[in-house]
Amino acid sequence: MWRNIFRNTIFSFILFGVTTFGVKNFSISEAAETQNKVELNQNVATSRMTYGRFLEYLEMGWIKQVDLYDNSRNAIVEASSPELGNRPQTIRVEIPVGASQLIQKLKEYNIDFDAHPAENKNLWITVASNVLLPILFVGGLFYFFQNSENFPGGGGQSQMNIGKSTARFEKRPDTGVVFKDIAGIDEAKAEFEEIVSFLKQPDKYTIVGAKIPKGILLVGPPGTGKTLLAKAIANEAGVPFFSVSGSEFVEMFIGIGAARVRDLFKKASENAPCIVFIDEIDAVGRERGAGVGGGNDEREQTLNQLLTEMDGFKENKGVIVVGATNRVDILDSALLRPGRFDRQVTVNLPDRLGRIGILKVHARNKPIGDDVSLVQLANRTPGFSGADLANLLNEAAILATRYKKSSITRNEVNEAADRIIGGIAGTPMEDNKNKRLVAYHEVGHAITGSVLKSHDEVEKITLVPRGSAKGLTWFTPEEDQSLLSRSELLARIITTLGGRAAEQVVFGNPEVTTGASNDLQQVTNLARQMVTRFGMSNIGPIALEDDNSGPVFLGGSMGQGDTYAESIADRIDSQVCKIINYCEEKAIEIIKDNRVVIDLTVERLLDIETMDGDEFRNILSTYTVLPDKKAPYISKFD
Ligand code: ADP
Ligand code: ZN
Repeated sequence: MWRNIFRNTIFSFILFGVTTFGVKNFSISEAAETQNKVELNQNVATSRMTYGRFLEYLEMGWIKQVDLYDNSRNAIVEASSPELGNRPQTIRVEIPVGASQLIQKLKEYNIDFDAHPAENKNLWITVASNVLLPILFVGGLFYFFQNSENFPGGGGQSQMNIGKSTARFEKRPDTGVVFKDIAGIDEAKAEFEEIVSFLKQPDKYTIVGAKIPKGILLVGPPGTGKTLLAKAIANEAGVPFFSVSGSEFVEMFIGIGAARVRDLFKKASENAPCIVFIDEIDAVGRERGAGVGGGNDEREQTLNQLLTEMDGFKENKGVIVVGATNRVDILDSALLRPGRFDRQVTVNLPDRLGRIGILKVHARNKPIGDDVSLVQLANRTPGFSGADLANLLNEAAILATRYKKSSITRNEVNEAADRIIGGIAGTPMEDNKNKRLVAYHEVGHAITGSVLKSHDEVEKITLVPRGSAKGLTWFTPEEDQSLLSRSELLARIITTLGGRAAEQVVFGNPEVTTGASNDLQQVTNLARQMVTRFGMSNIGPIALEDDNSGPVFLGGSMGQGDTYAESIADRIDSQVCKIINYCEEKAIEIIKDNRVVIDLTVERLLDIETMDGDEFRNILSTYTVLPDKKAPYISKFD
């Protein structure tokens, strides 16, 4: 639950403007990942690349040749890049509909390309298919009915391959991942090293009567290395690896998901010992009978089948099911009973040391310049997952190539981090009144954050737009974000309101803009949580709302959330208002008290556009005594 506050507060309040914040941008990491992934079972054109990445490659001049198929929906691309070790590689790219300017672009970049028309059917085939299709259809229907007792129950035997498991099955588990590639999640790793040793020498365990768990549930936020761990066990133990995503079991037709589960486990027991990895297991494993609109028969059947299968292999002959989810709270309790997923391993976001380890793993195959400190980078990135960090270094490598450098320097690393946290930089605004207003807004955040003892330090202030924010104030987050004190929360609210307060004091009430809407949302969320979850108001230490405010259809039961009386609801609202009003007053007071230095900073900022924290503190210290951020702080608010 702390992660939510963490994300809300750390990342978002640095923004000015109406935004959806950049944490979502992390999906870039998936692109970076897929690009080097090679599916084993095909022999041609096996790597894949996202369309966005492809365009980037195009821009960099790394694309040599393009062959378009299926009316330009797919392309086989010949590329060579430093990332790919400068060897020419064949890569498949799926082209989204609407990417119609592609051909023009290819011409523009002078790329050798060819479009292959869909196969020319000759007349006979056209006629034949016209006639044959209905016959086949009727015939098929007939056959289907004859076998209907096999369907939906029969799964495996079904004539249509529909009930077959779509699990990717790698006989020789050359997943390429070894434990050495995984850092920062030592407890989970230790657990898995034990499983590997069981798979290698089962006798050692069975002889002393030890039972190895059938099911292990990996719980943790996305990108923390859950898939990586499962791949590593298969690879290290040298056993087959079945990988499937829970969402692949969720089908429209009743019974198909269940048939797929059955098929998967059939294959698995034929290949035991082996690892079955079910990603996003919450897609099938959600609590039964929950959610809007009552139960979903298909999903329930699938889940029941999964439960049956897991009970099926009485003593474990070596099929180990590894499930991954970030929502263990919505899983059906039956799944967690002994004999099923009876072991839970939590995989958390890495701490500072973990991040250093992960950065080292991903820096291994990259030329990193001497001026880059991975330790410093780790300090700067609390809240980053392993995937985010991998992505960060990858982005830095791409930037280095773009700037035609032979190694990755500090400059690229910082730029990559900024991009990932704040989005891609835009061009600075023209000098006008709005720019001045944005400058005041940002300096308003910076100054409130600086004079409050319990707030993180300013890292830099910038008027270069990023993502949908017109200007940003960056703060250096403290490492431990897991416990925030009341005064820290209040300081956050005051600082977040600081931007708007500056607008108000400097330009007057009528000139206040819409720019602070995102700030206000943050503030309201925080204040509300203080009242309803952390017992930090005069209502008392009562948990009035729970952490899980996700939509009901995700599996939370309806009507469970708010159980307090209407009179309490009124008190909550009034407490939330009280906190926010208090903080607004504080913010305005700080702005008024520091008006001279604010004006000075704004002029300088308009000039240089980006000011780093040290320079800001320098200017500030000649006018104000800055608090010792480490000293204890006593909150006066009550
Ligand atoms: P999850 O399954 O938890 O969503 P993945 O295992 O798919 O996350 O991780 C995605 C990528 O992020 C990995 O392929 C790897 O490059 C990187 N990564 C994530 N966690 C770690 C880690 N602990 N150590 C090293 N790399 C990691
Ligand atoms: Zn703001």
